[in-house]
Amino acid sequence: MTSTYRITLLPGDGIGPEIMTVAVDVLKTVGSQMDLAFEFEEALIGGAAIDETGEPLPEATLKTCKASDAVLLAAIGGYKWDTLPRHQRPETGLLGLRAGLELFANLRPATILPQLIDASSLKREVVEGVDIMVVRELTGGIYFGSPKGIFEAETGQKRGVNTMVYTDGEIDRIGRVAFETAQKRRGQLCSVDKANVLEVSQLWRDRITALSADYPNVTLTHMYVDNAAMQLIRWPKQFDTIVTGNLFGDILSDAAAMLTGSIGMLPSASLGASGPGVYEPVHGSAPDIAGQDKANPLAQVLSTAMMLRYALDQPVAADRIEQAVTTVLDQGYRTGDIMAENMTQVGCKAMGEALLSALA
Ligand code: NAD
Repeated sequence: MTSTYRITLLPGDGIGPEIMTVAVDVLKTVGSQMDLAFEFEEALIGGAAIDETGEPLPEATLKTCKASDAVLLAAIGGYKWDTLPRHQRPETGLLGLRAGLELFANLRPATILPQLIDASSLKREVVEGVDIMVVRELTGGIYFGSPKGIFEAETGQKRGVNTMVYTDGEIDRIGRVAFETAQKRRGQLCSVDKANVLEVSQLWRDRITALSADYPNVTLTHMYVDNAAMQLIRWPKQFDTIVTGNLFGDILSDAAAMLTGSIGMLPSASLGASGPGVYEPVHGSAPDIAGQDKANPLAQVLSTAMMLRYALDQPVAADRIEQAVTTVLDQGYRTGDIMAENMTQVGCKAMGEALLSALA
């Protein structure tokens, strides 16, 4: 029997529509091969939504997302909207989407593909075999804590204030996602905090330690964030799954991403307690190359593989897509961002066609 899934597509801005087209073609092809049917509904977000409706996340978009099995997002933002007030900026649409779908867990794999080892700025022996998953808390911590703002102090000086805050409930729910993710991987979880200085981190460490009793098959370690930053560059292979708060995760997941050499290769998943998750590449809308058929669509395509694996429970279809990515890289196809000597440089469309041939 055919399984039918409702997927909301949010192409957004910049290179978004170009890479989304490739991802949808790939999904349709895999779907037809495996008896999976997708009902796609496209909706507006970011600058495209501002131009059309005046707001970065129209109510109708959130409604469509909530009614779907998963949301596939490309990227938002661009020079055109950079000077708008904050509540009208494309990024506000993204934050609204995360809040509206209660996406508290962000999963970001950083995997070194053997074909792209030389794209990393680190030595081959350091990065070969790196396979890390960063689980970042996404809706709490210093980005959302109050008080926040720029205030006038009694002395007449201005004070900028943000507050790093986590409740035990928030720590437990991200902790459980992380332990369960580690269970599906190599069973090692490193919790990153700054418990030597911050009380909020002390609570974080206590709760994660308490949770570990429920996951005897996962080995838990703790690391201070400054050391984690060093270790990621020094010997990244020591990490399997990392769990950390919003601010530390924002920074460390970008550092982990760069081990792989190209931002154009990295997918991510953002998950909530219930309801659909959002699957999107790590990179932004790349306005510098938008509309020029230069974008690398592989992060978007790998995001569809994550969607099939985590949201739709279709690991075989996910494997097929990941295998097709490996095949086109083995065949020597490279977009400009990952181009290397003796390889064949292609644009976004041609990379998409190569993927479809690999799938066939
Ligand atoms: P960016 O990721 O868009 O681009 C950084 C560099 O990487 C650029 O040189 C770009 O050409 C290149 N690049 C990115 N993705 C690529 C791809 N798929 N193929 C080839 N090259 C690629 O980051 P930025 O320049 O800092 O931001 C541009 C816009 O994107 C801004 O408006 C920013 O707010 C937005 N942004 C959105 C998201 C998101 O939608 N999740 C994330 C980050 C930035």
